[in-house]
Amino acid sequence: MSAAKRLVDRLQPYLREAPPYAAVQPPEELARRLGLPVERIVKLDANENPYGPSPKALAALGSGRAYHVYPDPEQRRVRAAFARYVGYDIDWIAAGAGSDELIDLLIRLFAGPGEAILNFLPTFSFYPFLAGVLGARALDVPRRDDYSLDIEAAVTAAPRARIVFAVSPNNPTGTLLTRPELDALLDTGLPVVVDEAYAEFAGESYVDLVRQRPNLVVLRTLSKWAGLAGLRLGYMVADPALVEVVLRVKQPYSINAAAEAAALASFDDLALLRQRVQAIVQERGRMAKLLSDIPGVDVTPSRANFLLCRLEGVEARSVHERLLERGVMVRYFDTPLLRNHVRISVGRPDQTDILVAALREVLTELPAKAVRKVRSS
Ligand SMILES: *Cc1c(COP(=O)(O)O)cnc(C)c1O
Repeated sequence: MSAAKRLVDRLQPYLREAPPYAAVQPPEELARRLGLPVERIVKLDANENPYGPSPKALAALGSGRAYHVYPDPEQRRVRAAFARYVGYDIDWIAAGAGSDELIDLLIRLFAGPGEAILNFLPTFSFYPFLAGVLGARALDVPRRDDYSLDIEAAVTAAPRARIVFAVSPNNPTGTLLTRPELDALLDTGLPVVVDEAYAEFAGESYVDLVRQRPNLVVLRTLSKWAGLAGLRLGYMVADPALVEVVLRVKQPYSINAAAEAAALASFDDLALLRQRVQAIVQERGRMAKLLSDIPGVDVTPSRANFLLCRLEGVEARSVHERLLERGVMVRYFDTPLLRNHVRISVGRPDQTDILVAALREVLTELPAKAVRKVRSS
């Protein structure tokens, strides 16, 4: 038996067997495969901001004055900037290396090994993935056909869970959590995390409610509206007693100096960033119309920067593959609750035009044999 084999045998079994997270792949890989320059790839698979960071953030990154010293473990400057942005005092804010880091901390703080998080499918698949890696598990409550929450089922499942994750607008459906749904979740008494990664595109938020409901945690991120996904910066708004613990147990230096510089500069450039959000919201409407005009494409109305589309009579996986061959990246789903769906991020108008033309081509090309299967079942 090799030494490597023995090492693997010593791993915690639940981690040795853990399924991977379906993370997005870098566009350079696809560009290489197709023999295209990476600028020609139309990347609409990860809800990133097609306009990139603000010019002020780029300038701040270039100055790089503080990169040789450790960042502030108490995150004072970024927390102050986030606090001002959402209208809270700094002691209600903790920052993380992406909201991903905060999701990790929240699961670990509330759901121990063998305990459960509650989530509402279809939703962000990062929660069950992380729960698994942390030795916890996910209790899945399916949404109704219109993607609203099945509150009865949620309330019934709540006693078996330790923390609730609800996304608004939800990824990948683009639908909002309603106030009665949120109230019902909060009334279970469990910690309720509302992940508002896309709130800026919806123009609606529950952040003001955190003051009144001590079991509400709102998560935000700079990855989407501020165009900083590559720098990993998110934050949570929560009761100061929880914030204090999060700040105590987190990785001390997880907010790196570059992310801090870019975030502070972004809040100095809010007018421009808000214009870009507006452009994306407007483009969302135009893209929804163009996609709905394609026969066999059913678009879910969205409040986020992406559109979920059901494809009739073709396999989403084949559509995804053929779009890739044309340099267009989208996300596809083929799960029991999302059969033959694609999620397409809203990009710039020129990207929309390429996507729509490519999708029309692909749908004409693909045999429609699955139509019969869908209709007879
Ligand atoms: C994109 C996204 C995030 C952002 O995660 P970061 O770690 O901040 O980049 C969080 N939640 C949901 C539901 C998302 O779709």
